[in-house]
Amino acid sequence: KKPVIAIDGYSSTGKSSISKVIADKLGLIHLDTGALYRGVTWFALQTCKDENGTIDLNQLFSSLEKIQLEFKNDEGELVLYLNHKDISKEIRTNEVSDNVSLVAKQKEVRDFLLQSQRNLAEKGGIIMDGRDIGTVVLPNADFKFFLTASIDERTKRRYNELLSLGIEADEQQVKENLIERDKIDSEREIAPLKQADDAIVIDNTHMTKRETIESILSYIHK
Ligand code: C5P
Repeated sequence: KKPVIAIDGYSSTGKSSISKVIADKLGLIHLDTGALYRGVTWFALQTCKDENGTIDLNQLFSSLEKIQLEFKNDEGELVLYLNHKDISKEIRTNEVSDNVSLVAKQKEVRDFLLQSQRNLAEKGGIIMDGRDIGTVVLPNADFKFFLTASIDERTKRRYNELLSLGIEADEQQVKENLIERDKIDSEREIAPLKQADDAIVIDNTHMTKRETIESILSYIHK
């Protein structure tokens, strides 16, 4: 039976791009769970703003049932469709990044997203990356990894990622957003960002993407 793999860690430690490569190598499907929280945030920014332009959380909670999530398998990559729309580009904007941790700390939102994540893992053969996969979503995963790296290295990676997506960015602002998100994500009450007791921790500050992948694969093939 193909394994279930959980990859958690801080923002911009390479979780998603690394998971994608491992999925390809091992013939698994890959789900980037951050995209779910980003998707709900994007939806909230479209439809649940108050007169100050900030997200009205109560309005969001009562609108959650209007959100229909679908996952299309694009060569092993599960692409999220929200109300029949591919929002892959929209969810990477700075506005979404600046609001996502506030949305993700809400119990209503996490409850809403939990079951679809678990359903996807039921048959095995999946690698899921996020913040609470090894601790909450898939506590019985066959392998759990937790990625970390220095804030300056992560800032550099995120900044370059945004540039490659054609999104304008300021390095200092990128750094502040990462620090702020990690703080909210780690300090929240429900499903905080933390390593599972049985996770293998990899600090990849001085590792290339390929080296991180090799390290993870070495544990899986042991
Ligand atoms: O992975 P990514 O940086 O795109 O995630 C965006 C945000 O979504 C995180 O900062 C966090 O607030 C939230 N998230 C979460 N739980 C997950 C994945 C993401 O709370 N499993």
